[in-house]
Amino acid sequence: MTVTINVYLTLKFIMLPPDIAGHPALDLLNTYDTTNDFLRTDEDVIAWLRRKKFLGDAPVPDYAEGTLVNAAIQLREITQAVVRSLLERSVPDVLALNRFLACGTRHLQIICDHSGLRAEDCYDAKTPEQLLARVGQTVADLVIHCEPSAILQCANEGCRLFFYNWSDSGRDRCGWSGCNSRGTV
Ligand SMILES: [Zn+2]
Repeated sequence: MTVTINVYLTLKFIMLPPDIAGHPALDLLNTYDTTNDFLRTDEDVIAWLRRKKFLGDAPVPDYAEGTLVNAAIQLREITQAVVRSLLERSVPDVLALNRFLACGTRHLQIICDHSGLRAEDCYDAKTPEQLLARVGQTVADLVIHCEPSAILQCANEGCRLFFYNWSDSGRDRCGWSGCNSRGTV
């Protein structure tokens, strides 16, 4: 008797953007660049959130398909508008950002594990906007705490990734290893 077993393997490759901005809100902007949109599906968003440590390994709630990526793109567009204003040295319109931030809810939990007792902020994740609340908070951090003149776009016209210049170096390139291969000034 011959038994045939068919094994179907689904290999799904998720491309992630360069992780070089030095600030999570600018890394969010870099999920869209001159060559790629790295946020096309809910899975792309989850992979990016995990890499940026906004999510642990726990399963993500089962949202309606496409709602997470739509919320992430909405937050990215909000961030783009805010950063554009900062780069133009004008006061950003924070209405849309505040609406997004208002979706987030968190509470304190006491964690007891092998390292002892500690308090942790826990974020609700009943909706995609709540799952993205911590990302929204980094956009708020950019607005409130960061120096607009340190928010830069790579001088390489073929690259144009955003980065935050934490040093006094006056550098104008993003420093990503693939930058030079993306064209020249
Ligand atoms: Zn660059």
